[in-house]
Amino acid sequence: MKRIAVLTSGGDAPGMNAAIRAVVRSGHYHGLEVYGVIRGYTGLINGDIRPLSLRSVGDIIHRGGTILYSARCKEFQTEEGRKKAVEQLRKHEIDGLVVIGGDGSFRGAQKLTALGFPAVGVPGTIDNDIPGTDFTIGFDTAVNTVIDCIDKIRDTATSHERTYVIEVMGRNAGDIALWSGLADGAESILIPESPYDLDDVVRRLKQATESGKKHSIIIVAEGVGSGVEFAEKIKEKLSVETRVTVLGHVQRGGSPTAFDRVLASRMGAKAVDLLRAGEKDKMVAIQNNKLVGIDFDEAFSMKHQPDMELYDLAKILSI
Ligand code: ADP
Repeated sequence: MKRIAVLTSGGDAPGMNAAIRAVVRSGHYHGLEVYGVIRGYTGLINGDIRPLSLRSVGDIIHRGGTILYSARCKEFQTEEGRKKAVEQLRKHEIDGLVVIGGDGSFRGAQKLTALGFPAVGVPGTIDNDIPGTDFTIGFDTAVNTVIDCIDKIRDTATSHERTYVIEVMGRNAGDIALWSGLADGAESILIPESPYDLDDVVRRLKQATESGKKHSIIIVAEGVGSGVEFAEKIKEKLSVETRVTVLGHVQRGGSPTAFDRVLASRMGAKAVDLLRAGEKDKMVAIQNNKLVGIDFDEAFSMKHQPDMELYDLAKILSI
């Protein structure tokens, strides 16, 4: 292996730049040439592929977003599109590809490998919804952004003694809601992995008020449904003033936390190690703080589950 390329694909996540930097720097360290593909699979098909020098990734470890840009590419979903992508890779004499992205991007990477081109994945998504890895790059930053927002909302919630419903991201996974809810002492956390009981939520709200709490915070994962609609249901059951905040894309930006920078650095370097060892069709994962490479098929055969012990703990601690 002499020349490798790296791209970012799908939804961006804070820490992707740190992962790109790690691929470039560790690639160069091991005597490889490293290229960057602009706009994910779109750039691959269009041949938007450029050399990345050691210095080209300076001053990015602390930046959110991705210097390589990210995109969703319909053409890559077709065999014809993927063949064009492989042609471009061969034209640029690239021997292996690192795909930083989510599960959709990994399915794409797997199909490249099926066409004979070695590709490996680095899990980058704020949702933490990729099976086989304890954490994905960007999740910790998103949780920290959420708790920063909730801390601020909490101040005004206390002043006005209100109930706040906060809708957070996570697609079909409840991880962001769960971690931010536990970290912020939310009265209720609603996640798609555990059906909620409206009466129980209402009972907990009443209990909170009766025990002297000045405000209540309910976190709703987007996978459960609309926070606005949920707040309406609460209002119908309890005549309390309820405010809703939908945090939205603020969760996808910002400077990555130390945890995400370290995770991204480790994972990016591990991806280069996998390619150098002749591995393909694998994604980098972190399991019990150990980096491993696992087959895409193995990852796809599992179902992501958030840590339900945290869910139970949050219930106990928020009484
Ligand atoms: P994420 O990687 O964040 O899950 P997407 O699901 O949007 O984001 O996937 C990113 C891109 O990966 C898509 O735009 C498409 O080009 C490619 N992709 C997704 N799923 C597949 C698939 N099943 N086969 C081939 N390519 C895919």
